[in-house]
Amino acid sequence: MVKRIGIDVGGTNVKIALVDGEGKIIYSNSVPTYAQMGYEYTVNNIKQAIRDLMKETNTDSKDIEAIGFDFPGQVDYKTGVVKLAPNIPGWVNVPIAQMIEEEFHIPTKIDNDVRCAALGEMKFGAGRGCENFICITVGTGIGSGIVINGQLVRGAANAAGEIGHIKLQMNDGPICGCGDTGCLEAFASGPSIVAMAYDYIRGGKSAKFREMAGDGEITPYIVAKAAEAGDPVAKRIFEIVGTYVGMGLVSVINLLNPEKVIVGGGVAEAGDLLLDPIRKTVKERAMAVAGNSVEIVPAELGNHAGVIGASMLGS
Ligand code: ADP
Repeated sequence: MVKRIGIDVGGTNVKIALVDGEGKIIYSNSVPTYAQMGYEYTVNNIKQAIRDLMKETNTDSKDIEAIGFDFPGQVDYKTGVVKLAPNIPGWVNVPIAQMIEEEFHIPTKIDNDVRCAALGEMKFGAGRGCENFICITVGTGIGSGIVINGQLVRGAANAAGEIGHIKLQMNDGPICGCGDTGCLEAFASGPSIVAMAYDYIRGGKSAKFREMAGDGEITPYIVAKAAEAGDPVAKRIFEIVGTYVGMGLVSVINLLNPEKVIVGGGVAEAGDLLLDPIRKTVKERAMAVAGNSVEIVPAELGNHAGVIGASMLGS
């Protein structure tokens, strides 16, 4: 049986899994990233996690076809170097694929996290059988992986898919984490849901999410729960956010004419609260042929998309 290792590197934790040729997770574990200790420390923890995985699953290097990593940031797929990962300080020009290959003698590839999620969805999730689709994730930021003619699109400098930085406003607009203004992500990510929630409270609107959060912080999760409980303000927030995401997607759908848009990421756990306004906006605003033929569906692999997709890199 084919076995591959997928490693999903995040700002807080590194998830590691042994995955079979059907995309089933045979073993999984996670170790803290502790980026503040320097990247060498994290790499050593990852190496130990790989050794632990092999011990626990009775495998060694010759049983494992490949190792794949995903990172939330800019990576060079061809050379296996992490260029910059804004949420993992210190990971600048780190030749991670070479470091792992030298240690384990297993071919190692790396890619961006949302692209890996798209690859996972294409092989084993909502993208099965699709030649042309976009996988968009809505969480702290908004990213996407693009599949055209059955192939991931990486772009000239491995930077394709930055849907969160489609400009929805030409002049001014909210400031985005990228340093520009008017980006989709600055209007519609998790932090903008939270900012809107506090604005409504300041404006004196009665809002259930304040009560539900108690003394704690309001999160997109709490706003979604309040909307599910019928709170009109919370429902309105998801309508606004879904409309913005839909507007960003309209441009992509007009440009690429995908069969499907697969929506994942933490905020997409809100389900139809987010998907319905996206569908409505696409129906109303995309050009007729592309807009009528696209299906907007939830991601299927959830939390595991990263490790499953990463394990399939180069397959
Ligand atoms: P990140 O983008 O930081 O990697 P995620 O994609 O997991 O992380 O998104 C995290 C966000 O998803 C959090 O802000 C959280 O409140 C939100 N979230 C989690 N579950 C839900 C839910 N059911 N409905 C709406 N938002 C949710």
